[in-house]
Amino acid sequence: MKKQQSLFEMSLERLDRAANYCEVDEETLERLRHARSVMQVSIPIRMDDGTLRVFEGYRVQHNDILGPTKGGLRFHPSTDLDEVKALAFWMTFKCAAVGIPFGGGKGGVTVDPKALSRLELERLSRGFVGRMAGFIGPDTDIPAPDVYTNPTIMGWMVDEYSKLNRGKAPCAFTGKPVSVGGSLGREDATGRGAYFCIKELERLKAWVPAEKTIAIQGFGNAGQHVARLLHHDGYRVVAVSDSQGGIYQPEGVNVPKVIEEKNRQRTLSGLYCEGSVCQCKECDCEGTEMIPNQSLLELDVDILIPAAMENQITEDNAMRIKAPYIVEVANGPVNAAADDILGQHGVTVVPDILANAGGVTVSYFEWVQNRIGDRWRETKVHSRLREVMGDAFRAIHGKMEALGVDFRTAAYVHALERLNEAVASQGTYSYFNHQ
Ligand code: GLU
Repeated sequence: MKKQQSLFEMSLERLDRAANYCEVDEETLERLRHARSVMQVSIPIRMDDGTLRVFEGYRVQHNDILGPTKGGLRFHPSTDLDEVKALAFWMTFKCAAVGIPFGGGKGGVTVDPKALSRLELERLSRGFVGRMAGFIGPDTDIPAPDVYTNPTIMGWMVDEYSKLNRGKAPCAFTGKPVSVGGSLGREDATGRGAYFCIKELERLKAWVPAEKTIAIQGFGNAGQHVARLLHHDGYRVVAVSDSQGGIYQPEGVNVPKVIEEKNRQRTLSGLYCEGSVCQCKECDCEGTEMIPNQSLLELDVDILIPAAMENQITEDNAMRIKAPYIVEVANGPVNAAADDILGQHGVTVVPDILANAGGVTVSYFEWVQNRIGDRWRETKVHSRLREVMGDAFRAIHGKMEALGVDFRTAAYVHALERLNEAVASQGTYSYFNHQ
């Protein structure tokens, strides 16, 4: 396999590109090229069969100029330090892009969580906190769910942290179960944030939802919620996939049913009956085709939503993408080389640091509620999220038009200007030099 550019290197390329379009101090750029702190731990876990296994865990605090570092924690077999560093870097820009007072952080454990029992998973989650407790905290670095982690895991983690801390510390983690201080509206926040971006596009382009077709790669939390909200508005979701493969139904898939089945069977492949003519009466899979993930990306649809992992659209397949709009619900699904190819083909990419910022935005609302001991109604969470996403979308879109750049560069410029202002207000070399 061809060696891919490291994810962190790719992030720096995007930083340099954006720096060409704004007045930014070289010191700001230099600070952003380096992660502030990196912690790597090994987590020994007693397995159910009595044996011991040791897992690698990481937490990276990229930059805290705008506030405590914030970002998810993933459990995935291919997670490594380079990936976590890039993801932390993206969090810095994501929080700055939507204007919430957090810096960027991220964590990960190299593990296939599907191969662990529930008790093993709990021991691993608590073990991670045991090793990281001195590094994270409500005012320094606040983890949240990410790929293959969820509110239950955050619940174990906050419990472990509170024990070690000898006092309740609900703001040490976000994305918790509502019963232990989680926020209403956090569960679907990433999908809803992306949905609000699509509603902004709809307004700008005067789209009629029923005329627009959508393909979604990845049917985890974010993919399912964005599908549900768009389907509810009349958009035609024609294809969805998970790591095992996808289904394609040109008339539009029955989204509520697909979500129900996916969560029951844990895979989409069970939704499709083998054979070209379906004989079974219970399913409505007639006209539904099974398609591999790569073909889903290349479908002739109006909006493509990659909601799975990084590096899905690269220089190898970018020229075959037919969708005129890509909304990045995953982090980093389009690599830097593909950006140029898509740009040449006139594809608009609503970048991850905007499109998937709904999750961290509602995490911020959760943190605020925990700090002041309040509980917000779900409607309040939704309307404040709409406000944050709408403001950021319009500011970035305006910047894109004013500068004549692509959406991603505009989002980076917007974030970079905020970061630069904060760095400058703390004093840079040129600031002191002019005194
Ligand atoms: N994991 C999510 C992200 O990548 C959410 C982070 C958070 O809520 O802190 O944005």
